[in-house]
Amino acid sequence: MGVPLPRKDLFYIPEGVIYLDGNSLGVLPKGAAARATEVIEQEWGQQLIRAWNVAGWMDLPRVVGDRIGQLIGAPEGSVATGDTLSIKVYQALAAALKMRPDRRVILSDNGNFPSDLYMAQGLIGTIDKGYELRTPAPEDVAGAITEEVAVVMLTHVDYRSGRMHDMKAITEKAHAMGAVMIWDLAHSAGAVPVDMAGSNAEFAVGCSYKYLNGGPGAPAFIYARPDIIEGVEPALSGWLGHDAPFAMELGYRPAMSTERLRVGTPPILQLAVLQEALKAWDGVDMDDLRRASLTLSECFIREVTARCPELRLASPTDPTTRGSQVSFAFAHSYAAMQALIARGVIGDFRAPDIMRFGFTPLYLDEGDVIRAAEILEEVIKTRAYEAPEYQTRSRVT
Ligand SMILES: *Cc1c(COP(=O)(O)O)cnc(C)c1O
Repeated sequence: MGVPLPRKDLFYIPEGVIYLDGNSLGVLPKGAAARATEVIEQEWGQQLIRAWNVAGWMDLPRVVGDRIGQLIGAPEGSVATGDTLSIKVYQALAAALKMRPDRRVILSDNGNFPSDLYMAQGLIGTIDKGYELRTPAPEDVAGAITEEVAVVMLTHVDYRSGRMHDMKAITEKAHAMGAVMIWDLAHSAGAVPVDMAGSNAEFAVGCSYKYLNGGPGAPAFIYARPDIIEGVEPALSGWLGHDAPFAMELGYRPAMSTERLRVGTPPILQLAVLQEALKAWDGVDMDDLRRASLTLSECFIREVTARCPELRLASPTDPTTRGSQVSFAFAHSYAAMQALIARGVIGDFRAPDIMRFGFTPLYLDEGDVIRAAEILEEVIKTRAYEAPEYQTRSRVT
């Protein structure tokens, strides 16, 4: 048994807002601003360059990585933090391809987040050795894992529909066919229980600004299975992944640990804020979190389905195959979401016609969810979405 959920007192949530977008950008933890000020004024301001040692800045990527590791079932020392998720996808994929030099197929799926696919396309172009990216429908992926496949690279929970792949079964299939497995946990870390060690997958990557509340631009993470790390060839062989960065050797020699997946100078301000944000997870049992998440999402589905027959559920109905978000398809989704946001219920829109709602049990309860469904019903019934101010699209949707 973990601490009771939600823990709303740990977060700053604006008055009148029901926030159903923690799957895109988590809310502000109350300790974040004070921690950032402390790092700026005391550590940077007073200690200056000395802070790399005395304030523990150089170790921060590993320390924060270990805390994230606890949330995803990864052993100590197996998670590095830094850069952005797109970069970590590139690193994992490049390393994985090196592990299967006689194979030429990267298998993903057509529900994957575009950046993951774009990074694969860029890497294929850079290597220029005839690699091919295959993207079947998510439900066909398991069947598409053949002995031609070098790497299976999948996002565990689909960013649009919330559909969740069976991590254990797909990893087993990949290994049976001799392929390397990479999981993207962008919508899993802090959203559902994850057992990286138990899955036996070689790599995982993820970001920390979604369910982990690390703030905009917070660093990403990368996991490598401990027994393979010494054979992982870093494609981005920056000095901080070197075995002895301050020896200033002319040749690259990777660190003998997950540190080799570091690249350059870590983003200390963001890491410090993330470290503070991760305190909200102290004492949280991930099975409790999952139960709370399903209670919230099942309640939302029940309420919205009953109140808004115009909307079509675009997420799996079976909760065991769904992450911590629920999506509805609707012809006027963009405008309806703008109308909803104007009324204090914040979700988001994903092209072409999806209204997406994330459920974050750390700071949401059933009352919030029912209220959100009532406001959504009002927007749909009164056709409030037809107002001209909701029709023009912003840069970020
Ligand atoms: C959010 C997300 C990203 C974003 O990558 P960044 O480099 O952090 O901008 C990438 N992949 C997936 C699957 C995501 O959900």
